[in-house]
Amino acid sequence: MIEHLENTEEMDLYEIYNLLPKINCRRCGEETCLAFAAMVECGTKKITQCRVLIEKGVKNHE
Ligand code: SF4
Repeated sequence: MIEHLENTEEMDLYEIYNLLPKINCRRCGEETCLAFAAMVECGTKKITQCRVLIEKGVKNHE
């Protein structure tokens, strides 16, 4: 799952947003998950900078 998360270049904003936990916890440094998705879409941030997503992914693999 995490491997496939790296491949966001072909995704649009809402595809990226739909992968996110949507809890707006701000741990990535953005105010909202949607703002973070926009940063990922334009290549400024990587989706793996969403710590919640990574922690969830790790948990799902346990
Ligand atoms: S760290 Fe992840 S869940 Fe938290 S606000 Fe950023 S994108 Fe959303």
